[in-house]
Amino acid sequence: MTPVSYARAGSTAEALQQIAGGDHRLLGGGTNLVDLMRKGVEHPRALVDVSGLPGLIEESADAGLMIGAAARNSAVAAHPLVRTRYPMLSRAILAGASAQIRNMATTGGNLLQRTRCMYFADAAASRCNKRVPGSGCDAIGGFTRYHAILGASEACVATHPSDMAVALAALDARVHIAGAGGGVRVVPVTEFHRLPGDRPDVETLLEPGEMIVAVALPPSDVAARSTYRKVRDRASYAFALVSVAAGLTLDGDRVADVRIALGGVAHKPWRALRAEAALRGGPASAEAFASAAAAELADAVPLADNGFKIELARRTLVALLSELSGSVA
Ligand SMILES: Cc1cc2nc3c(=O)[nH]c(=O)nc-3n(C[C@H](O)[C@H](O)[C@H](O)COP(=O)(O)OP(=O)(O)OC[C@H]3O[C@@H](n4cnc5c(N)ncnc54)[C@H](O)[C@@H]3O)c2cc1C
Ligand code: SF4
Repeated sequence: MTPVSYARAGSTAEALQQIAGGDHRLLGGGTNLVDLMRKGVEHPRALVDVSGLPGLIEESADAGLMIGAAARNSAVAAHPLVRTRYPMLSRAILAGASAQIRNMATTGGNLLQRTRCMYFADAAASRCNKRVPGSGCDAIGGFTRYHAILGASEACVATHPSDMAVALAALDARVHIAGAGGGVRVVPVTEFHRLPGDRPDVETLLEPGEMIVAVALPPSDVAARSTYRKVRDRASYAFALVSVAAGLTLDGDRVADVRIALGGVAHKPWRALRAEAALRGGPASAEAFASAAAAELADAVPLADNGFKIELARRTLVALLSELSGSVA
């Protein structure tokens, strides 16, 4: 490991000042960044620890529920307002990692965790356009069970690993980003992460010198009737093969409103807008759920080892919508 300096920021302003120049990186819980430093994937010269900043979770009259970037994943999942008003978020967080890791991991760090593509993590022996732009992609033609079926490119077929971010995408959450000038800009989480295109190394809209300060959850009736389901190779401590975050409200036997996002299928949390449009106002039936899932997955492109994900995503989405509509457990 190369020598690295460490400083603890006492405020957002101090953190912004410290990352303004040089190869500085923010440190949340360190559960992803430190791992990648050990593996030789990340090489910051200086760490600015923001995990001690106030990670408040509080209501704001105009923005909804504000979650500070330093709020620990376990605190967010356990918060009474999150559990009652946004249950899919609580369940998504609890479906990830382990209790010990969730106690360390922060909201900002979770959003910015890097892909679990094994070739990305193998700095010694694998080619990876995300790690070294222009070097190639050993996943293409390699082992692709965990890779993308939607929105991938010829440069990168990796998936985003966060469970929490899938729920945030379905909830229309907004990322509050502070910059060196002192201003804060607000970006929908669905636009915060990028598809890979020809620059898979550029993963988000975050600019150098900026940091996440909070995530806002807008008030929503559909969020209160929501849940999260994750399908993985092991019952715990494994990343999603496919996950679905969904919320549904009914007007009699018709869909009044719906929010859906998929995880484990793309370079970013995949907001299922086509499925939502197909469902809204229509019958809350198994046939309608299947047809909406088919519409969402119509452009899916399987790789050598992950064709099963298309059927898995379809079935998981139909099962979750059926559960939410009360037609199937
Ligand atoms: C064994 C294991 C299993 C796991 N399983 C899962 C799983 O099933 N599902 C899942 O979703 N996750 C899983 N994770 C990942 C875990 O959720 C992430 O490691 C964690 O959320 C990252 O948060 P952190 O605060 O520790 O981030 P850090 O490691 O501290 O930072 C991650 C990145 O975020 C940046 N950063 C941190 N804070 C800010 C900020 N405020 N503004 C801008 N940039 C910032 C850092 O510079 C760094 O680039 C697992 C991790 C491990 C180790
Ligand atoms: S899929 Fe993306 S992250 Fe994985 S090796 Fe290819 S370029 Fe790298």
